[in-house]
Amino acid sequence: MQTHPELQEHPQYFSKEIVQLADNVYQAFGFAASNVYMIVGDDSVIIIDTSESTSAATNMLNEFRKITQLPIKTIIYTHSHRDHVSGATVFANDDKPDILASTRFSDDSLAVATKHPLPTKAMQARTKRQFGIGLSYPDEFIGIGVGPGDRPMKGLGAGSLPPTRRIGDDGEQLTLSGIDLQLVMAPGETPDHMVVWYPEKKILFCGDNFYRSFPNLYAIRGTVYRDFDTWVETLDLLIDFNAEVLAPGHTKAINGASQVKTLLSDYRDAIAHIIEHTRNGMDAGLTIDQLANTVKLPDHLAEKPHLREYYGRIDWSVRAYCVGTLGWFDGNPTSLGTLAPSDEAKRFIDLIGGPDALINAAEKARSESDYQWALQLIDRLVFLDDASDNNRSIISKAKTLKAELLKEYAGEQINCCARHYYLQYAKELNASE
Ligand SMILES: [Zn+2]
Repeated sequence: MQTHPELQEHPQYFSKEIVQLADNVYQAFGFAASNVYMIVGDDSVIIIDTSESTSAATNMLNEFRKITQLPIKTIIYTHSHRDHVSGATVFANDDKPDILASTRFSDDSLAVATKHPLPTKAMQARTKRQFGIGLSYPDEFIGIGVGPGDRPMKGLGAGSLPPTRRIGDDGEQLTLSGIDLQLVMAPGETPDHMVVWYPEKKILFCGDNFYRSFPNLYAIRGTVYRDFDTWVETLDLLIDFNAEVLAPGHTKAINGASQVKTLLSDYRDAIAHIIEHTRNGMDAGLTIDQLANTVKLPDHLAEKPHLREYYGRIDWSVRAYCVGTLGWFDGNPTSLGTLAPSDEAKRFIDLIGGPDALINAAEKARSESDYQWALQLIDRLVFLDDASDNNRSIISKAKTLKAELLKEYAGEQINCCARHYYLQYAKELNASE
């Protein structure tokens, strides 16, 4: 199937490698969705993050063991997302390491500051779609945008261990096996982020507050509001370290103080731009849909490799900002009470002259690669919710067409989450028929 030209380069970019960042610092890159770091001390080893699966963690540990046999006495979690904590049992082995995380570290691994139960089944289904779990590599699934597609999935989410010690909001200075480190609270992609600063080597381990993609300010698997302004403040804090090496939770490390500063500043400016332009639009009375279609990054930022929409997407971020600040109501009185989708569908189909006319219009849009319009048309039939025999067959036809549209549209996407969501949803539609 078709793959966006920029994504075709991802298997090469994410090829597996142990990268030496300093004489005693190593990055396991391309083994899993996320990176794992090893700092070798005088008589033991510090591990930062542990990856998403026990199988990937085993492969990384085997490589690290070629460098040193010293015991792992400390594991540091940058945050609680599952792709960073799920290989802990492998690295801990029998060494009984201290496991450090912030006091805000979320025990449910979803990093949401809520006591209300989340709709678990919905999140599971959407997570599977976002990450393309079950899609075939490399035809359907080329990578997650910020991580490789060709990686082991055995033991996914299986090997997490709880922190043994929590670091308070003021952070902490530690000396571990002769290595001085600073642990600093840095809420951004999640509220529980804690970055690791290694001053002697000027290396900043920044977790997921930076990676080579437009930031995932909203994850379509379903997330509560990620505080945009806080992420901007944290990027300022990260810039002030004047790091020589930026070691992110995903994608390659960045070398050189000026390059690190430029990339972090671009990241900050991009998020600040989205905030400013979305706010201005809201103040001018524009609706969420209007803003999602008009707020863009300026060209000098949009073309930068680290702000391409491989993982996060600008229009989703705009929507998240609107919903996160003023809630779901877009200010348009029409939106205060809308017709049921099945009711609207019936009226629309009558207006256009019946279901066949609608199918024809959708097929015409498809032939012009106008997929979004084709999907919006065909959804009227999918949502018809009509049990009559005549309509049952046309609804079934509409679902089949929707699945085909999603597959073709997926091939055009630069955003991996969107690509996977379309493909996975298409499979689910076909299976339901
Ligand atoms: Zn991550």
